[in-house]
Amino acid sequence: MRAALIREIGQPFQVEEVHIAAPTGREVLVDVRASGLCHSDITVARSGMGIGLPAVLGHEISGVVAAVGDSVTRIKVGDHVVAAALQPCGHCQACLRGNLNGCTNPGSLDRTDEEAPRLDVDGVPVVQMQGLGGFAEQALIHENQLVAIDPSMPFEQASIIGCAVATGAGSIFNAAKVTPGQSIAVFGCGGVGLNAIQAAALAGATTIIAVDIQPDKLELAQKFGATAVVNSGEEDAAARVLELTGGAGVDHAFVMIGVPAVAETAMASLGFGGTTYLVGGMRPGAALDVRPSPADSTLLSKQQGVRGIWLGSSNFYADIPMYVDLYLQGKLNLDDLVSQTIELGDINEAYEGLEGGGIARSVITFPAR
Ligand SMILES: [Zn+2]
Ligand SMILES: [Zn+2]
Repeated sequence: MRAALIREIGQPFQVEEVHIAAPTGREVLVDVRASGLCHSDITVARSGMGIGLPAVLGHEISGVVAAVGDSVTRIKVGDHVVAAALQPCGHCQACLRGNLNGCTNPGSLDRTDEEAPRLDVDGVPVVQMQGLGGFAEQALIHENQLVAIDPSMPFEQASIIGCAVATGAGSIFNAAKVTPGQSIAVFGCGGVGLNAIQAAALAGATTIIAVDIQPDKLELAQKFGATAVVNSGEEDAAARVLELTGGAGVDHAFVMIGVPAVAETAMASLGFGGTTYLVGGMRPGAALDVRPSPADSTLLSKQQGVRGIWLGSSNFYADIPMYVDLYLQGKLNLDDLVSQTIELGDINEAYEGLEGGGIARSVITFPAR
């Protein structure tokens, strides 16, 4: 099968023929039908983040189950599935509490070094990032990372649920637990940010401020429920957020892009008891300028917080089917998030387009096998 490989950090993806093993034990072979281009894949491709090479990235996957190992119980051949970029063992204390990203045995879902690799090129093992490897025609995934969904769900929209929706909407529902009447600001209105905005609208937030430097993203943000937009390339975003909230500041500020200066602006936008949530991945060595003295900030006097969120604090077994239901009921707009569908060979060009803006999500599609 064909896959887009990263062989060297900082180099383009290379589409190559890769051998994929047959499923054993609790593994599931998925014919990938759609695979979303998330910003964090390109961050890994460009800065490594400790990943082994060669590697197949891609963690927003939907597809059809082609085969299952003999110990698989939750998933069957023919199921339509969405994958999740978490590797919950299913039996540690964190997993049993539903805190799947707190799993203390995430590596337990991978094959051991003694076993033949799931993927190889001429016998050389190929790393599957996060146990997935979605930039490929097929993926061999542990069943704990898969959720079967309603087959009426279109594959392109289903794929982006795995990260863009789970991260953006999960930040609102699971982490911040936004309630009716609250105010939020979202910094960065790509795929994740737009999902946070529409989830906040669903949760009943009455002030939803979208902040970005690209006018077309701010326009989209309004379509997804933003009540006000701020172009941070043109004005002081923190000052404008305070102005839009009558001087109060927001209850929750979400930082969707991994840029420390943006996080600092978010912190300066908070109201009493407000929290800044760091959602977008930060590069190694990134540092925040936090000045806790009451002489320098309102962190102490207004009892504010800074908190990290990983994949929207998702319990994806419950969340993914919920997002599918919300889409099928017309309450979650995923159609406007799939900006374009592309072929596997167009991946490098599409990532350049993502950098340029105007694109919420590009999704690679594959024909039925
Ligand atoms: Zn992602
Ligand atoms: Zn666990």
